[in-house]
Amino acid sequence: MQKVLLQKVIPPLLLLAGVLSLALWYWQGSQTMPALFPAGRSTTLLLIDPGHGGEDGGAVSVSGEKESDINLSIALKCDQIAGLMGIPVELLRTEDSSLASPEAESLREKKREDLARRVEMVNSAQQAVLLSIHQNSFPDSSYSGAQVFYRPTEESEAWALHTQELLRQVVNPDNRRQAKEIPSDIYLMSHISCPAILVECGFLSHAGEAQLLLEEPYQCRLSVAIIGAYLSLPLPAGEAEQRYSSAQNTN
Ligand SMILES: [Zn+2]
Repeated sequence: MQKVLLQKVIPPLLLLAGVLSLALWYWQGSQTMPALFPAGRSTTLLLIDPGHGGEDGGAVSVSGEKESDINLSIALKCDQIAGLMGIPVELLRTEDSSLASPEAESLREKKREDLARRVEMVNSAQQAVLLSIHQNSFPDSSYSGAQVFYRPTEESEAWALHTQELLRQVVNPDNRRQAKEIPSDIYLMSHISCPAILVECGFLSHAGEAQLLLEEPYQCRLSVAIIGAYLSLPLPAGEAEQRYSSAQNTN
């Protein structure tokens, strides 16, 4: 009983500790924070896309875990942290299900409809940005480390570079992976029009990293780094000034 209670209490505490330490780290490191947070991010909707879901489990870890479950677990933590920090946030799915209609029959049809629905949700949102959460897999099981991909826009690239750097500092100090432009054949990313990044949090084909990706504290650290990067990302100059002055006017 006591063990169950501890298991329930520890993850939120870790989460809170992570957010507070990141906030303190950021506060010490920048003089411009009041202009960017919360005023800068409070008017943009952060859409979080937990990749795959339902019958489409995505990649499978060496111990048989589905990518879709890990994506959802990390996305839910990102959602909680973002909500706690006062950022408008919405998840594209909140459970292990596909967004396809019940009429879709084959897996191929379900995947196509699911992606079309995600595109529709992103493109119909006002002033939104997209954060897509996935896990990597590769035939060579020695590959490891988080990597961030971005849509080919200036804002997406800046967001991805900053997220990659924070993931390195907070999660994997030895990770030398660089943020990269997303391949044009990724359906969701090539059919939306807002700034977007896709975070491959780690490799399910690497035994050690796959185990870490299942653990709550590791998922918390990933989520803190991802949302911390979003919060501390400098806005384009004109936009930051405009949002800061409008926030000042409402005080
Ligand atoms: Zn995936």
